[in-house]
Amino acid sequence: MDFDGFFKGQLESVREEGRYRVFTEIKRHRGQFPHATRYVEDEQSEVTVWCSNDYLGMGQHPAVLEAMHRVIDECGAGAGGTRNISGNNHHHVLLENELADLHHKEAALLFTSGYVSNWAGLGTLAGRIPGCVVFSDALNHASMIEGIRHSRAERRIWNHNDPEDLDRHLSEFGSDVPKLVAFESVYSMDGDIAPIAEILDVCEKHGAMSYIDEVHAVGLYGPRGGGVAEREGLMDRITVIEGTLGKAFGVMGGYIAASADLCDFIRTFASGFIFTTALPPALAAGATASIRHLKTSEFERARQRDRVEKVRRKLDMLGIPHLPNPSHIIPVMVGDAHKCKRISDWLMDNHGIYVQPINYPTVPRGTERLRITPSPVHTDGDIDRLIEALSDIWSQCALARRSMAA
Ligand SMILES: *Cc1c(COP(=O)(O)O)cnc(C)c1O
Repeated sequence: MDFDGFFKGQLESVREEGRYRVFTEIKRHRGQFPHATRYVEDEQSEVTVWCSNDYLGMGQHPAVLEAMHRVIDECGAGAGGTRNISGNNHHHVLLENELADLHHKEAALLFTSGYVSNWAGLGTLAGRIPGCVVFSDALNHASMIEGIRHSRAERRIWNHNDPEDLDRHLSEFGSDVPKLVAFESVYSMDGDIAPIAEILDVCEKHGAMSYIDEVHAVGLYGPRGGGVAEREGLMDRITVIEGTLGKAFGVMGGYIAASADLCDFIRTFASGFIFTTALPPALAAGATASIRHLKTSEFERARQRDRVEKVRRKLDMLGIPHLPNPSHIIPVMVGDAHKCKRISDWLMDNHGIYVQPINYPTVPRGTERLRITPSPVHTDGDIDRLIEALSDIWSQCALARRSMAA
């Protein structure tokens, strides 16, 4: 077989659809984020990042950087092993204690990423509980889908954010069947938020375990940054809360928080937990510092809300269509992969504004979009430049605007 020929052919069809992924090469500047340098071959230019998941700018917070520097000096670079064999650093343990406290759970378990925590957490629970059936929200993240698939457990997909449909699916199984319901709080592409209390009512009615992905909510919602479930006083009703340390907390890593027995079970049986090198201690210390800071500081969350409102208000004034939602994510809808890519390129080349186009399979075809994530570190000037640039391209391309009333 002509392997390279095969690879080229596959890539060509992705290109024709306009959804070939081109990575933007940037260098973020500490102390100046969201400003960064963009690299194109030999040329460099200055850009403003409008699509980062470092939602609160914690990736450059002095408390986080101080902790990371200190622990590099204290422990060196890497963990030196898996958690099982010589890599179980004191700073991992401190971080797990911090996470358990954040979610008011008995325990927490750290993974190398949020993706791995979902893959290993769901895969192990569904795979190891005999006869377990998984009920998965239709818009769950790829990492949850892969974990469920890996478990080989029977799987039911329920309509997105629809507790009644979940109830119908659960009702098809007897009370003796172990059930696991998996969903997210904030869905990161539409920015909608699950009706968590109603979903938990249904779970409890059927004796099902609940597993929530709060990746796009931890640090951002709740009085201590514990997520939407904290804000709504629901953390104690959820079996497993999963989160990332790589988005609002600004560092890297993933985790689950749950009962001591459940965490011990995953620790013992999850291949993706045990057979991989532990996170560098400095990352763990940085994440701990970030969580601690956001437990008591409301400043970043309040400022982010203010920035999000301001961008939305200005988009509305210009009639630029964006999906209304109760979260911090602003999806500006384009609805065509080629157009989405062209607008993104144009914003970058003409205005130094970096908004990555979001295409299939991340979102359904026909709903291609620019996903804007304002953060506390975007200034009024940054916002004005973004809005002017969008207005400009909307006129040039004769893209549809919404009437003010719409
Ligand atoms: C990004 C993401 C993850 C994975 O988290 P990482 O720490 O980036 O691996 C999991 N779930 C959802 C919903 C995500 O968007």
